[in-house]
Amino acid sequence: MEKTTRRRIAFSLVYVLIAVAALWLLRDTSGGDEPRTVAYSELVGMAEDGKLARVVVSESSIAGYEKAVDDGSEAKEKGKDDDATEDDGPPDVEAARPPMIDEQFLTTMHEHGVEVVGQPASEGSWWPMLLWLVLPLLLIFGPSLLAMRAMGRGGPLSFARGRVKILDATAADRVTFADVAGVDEAKGELQEVISFLREPGRFEAIGAKVPKGVLLIGSPGTGKTLLARAVAGEAGVPFFSMSGSGFVEMFVGVGAARVRELFEQAKQRAPCIIFIDEIDAIGRTRGGVAAMSPHEEREQTLNQLLTEMDGFDPSAGVVIMAATNRPEVLDPALTRAGRFDRKVIVDAPTVTGRIAILRVHARGVKLAPEVDLELVARRTPGMVGADLARVINEAALAATRRGATQVEQQDFEEAIDRIQLGLRRRGRAMSDAERHRVAFHEAGHALVALALPHADPVHRVTIIPRTIGALGATLQLPTEDRFLMTRAELRDRICVMLGGRVAEQLALGEVSTGAVNDLERASETARQMVCRFGMSEGLGPQTFGRPAGLQFLDSPAAWGDHRNFSDQRAAEIDGEIDRLIAAEHERARAILTARHEELVRVAEALLERETIDAPELATLVRSGVPGDGVEAGGAQA
Ligand code: ADP
Ligand code: MG
Ligand code: ZN
Repeated sequence: MEKTTRRRIAFSLVYVLIAVAALWLLRDTSGGDEPRTVAYSELVGMAEDGKLARVVVSESSIAGYEKAVDDGSEAKEKGKDDDATEDDGPPDVEAARPPMIDEQFLTTMHEHGVEVVGQPASEGSWWPMLLWLVLPLLLIFGPSLLAMRAMGRGGPLSFARGRVKILDATAADRVTFADVAGVDEAKGELQEVISFLREPGRFEAIGAKVPKGVLLIGSPGTGKTLLARAVAGEAGVPFFSMSGSGFVEMFVGVGAARVRELFEQAKQRAPCIIFIDEIDAIGRTRGGVAAMSPHEEREQTLNQLLTEMDGFDPSAGVVIMAATNRPEVLDPALTRAGRFDRKVIVDAPTVTGRIAILRVHARGVKLAPEVDLELVARRTPGMVGADLARVINEAALAATRRGATQVEQQDFEEAIDRIQLGLRRRGRAMSDAERHRVAFHEAGHALVALALPHADPVHRVTIIPRTIGALGATLQLPTEDRFLMTRAELRDRICVMLGGRVAEQLALGEVSTGAVNDLERASETARQMVCRFGMSEGLGPQTFGRPAGLQFLDSPAAWGDHRNFSDQRAAEIDGEIDRLIAAEHERARAILTARHEELVRVAEALLERETIDAPELATLVRSGVPGDGVEAGGAQA
């Protein structure tokens, strides 16, 4: 390390010296008395007037030397005598040279006794010329050349503006499997990589196939980067990490060179891990139309990566890991046997996983004894590790704002709301009429949810304004993570979504724009039921259309974008969706009409207290605690 640092300083010094020397030389030649610039015709005129002793014709200009004194022939003689000394002095006048020096010019000069000297390009002023050419290049490329040199000499790659990070096994911020939770399956699959890195020889002795490339696949924030680091931490080996985008540079060839350097370095420190984060930045399918991106450079980089992966002996003890959330765009060559042939899915955590992740992040946080992280986990379906880390942090911040010494459950409630629904609009007060409307709207959602057997139990209802769209929220608590949903559950879900608007209509005789999000979600759910899940009565078990593109994991596809059905079928689909929505609308209406008293009671309680939680809600409704409904829920805005 120290040696390379010194070398780097030496290089920088040399570079600075060259630059200074160049500037000095330039100053030297351009200084002194400048020749007077004249027009070509004037120069010829001067010769005709007998004022010139000599002209020097170079590639771009004609320099004229005046006769020393006006004294006619004597001066002329003098000029000739002093030829040797005159040669070194600056000319008196200079004119731009016409493209061709013609007969006429030479004749004129000859007639007036002017000596004509031709100057080859390399004579005299070649030094500044060369510098002018080289200096800008030096200024532009100098630093990066130095950087590449530093890389080549085994200096820290981080010199290249931190593109490659090397974490040593002994690093203070070393990560282990204890820091990564809720991804037990992935951990299990990576266990083999760890034992290989610990004892590469053992695998070889047995003749076991050695892992070479491991691709981590998962949505953003699920802990892929963390997991890769933890593998290095568990195995106690160095970790060379670089982001895919860091390879792709402005200049063609730099990325490929960087890949080469990276592998060279890593091999010297085996056993170790090379980690390429966000590999999709370089690993996209080649030959595609990549607007804007310098895809020539990217392809070269990718090719170099493939070459390096093929070229090294797996028993060398270098494991290459990569991470992506877009496996579908990767070049198939990358996942071929002998390359990233092992794929590890890093899933979004289940409820037990979320509890574990929350515990990991709560380690350094002072929690009140009654804090129930399990409840927090149940309230956060769909959140991934990065979100949960934020929940803990936000809760700690909320406690600090309260001036408390411990984080309490209410802080978590606030943190979850903050992250799920956006920050409270503290400054913006709703008008009374608006509050009134929102209270009925939310009470409507809540009561419909309570009345339906398949809806999620209501966890909390609130009319506290949030920044993201919603004016209030009814939080339903799914009792388990859902992988499948029945038709009845989906119908109930639509019914709950419509409940808010129906309540507004019933209580206030008028609907508002507050239900726009509900309507969008209801329509989308109904469309999916008909087109995707084959759940409509009229059209039966078939699908219509295909998603707009290959979608990864659970990102919603715009269903039905690719039409593979007739216009008549399209009309039938629309009819089915209409019927579904109308039926659920009617059901919600029936429920709330029958429970009008309760609706008013809940709405009034909301206006008074702004937030009501489940037990309180139960006391307000006639039927008491609702049955144990189930459904992947979230918030009804
Ligand atoms: P990804 O690379 O998948 O986008 P990261 O590994 O960068 O996600 O995760 C970002 C942060 O979120 C981590 O530094 C960590 O604090 C937290 N995190 C994510 N997943 C987990 C997990 N499974 N267990 C604990 N913390 C996690
Ligand atoms: Mg990452
Ligand atoms: Zn709503």
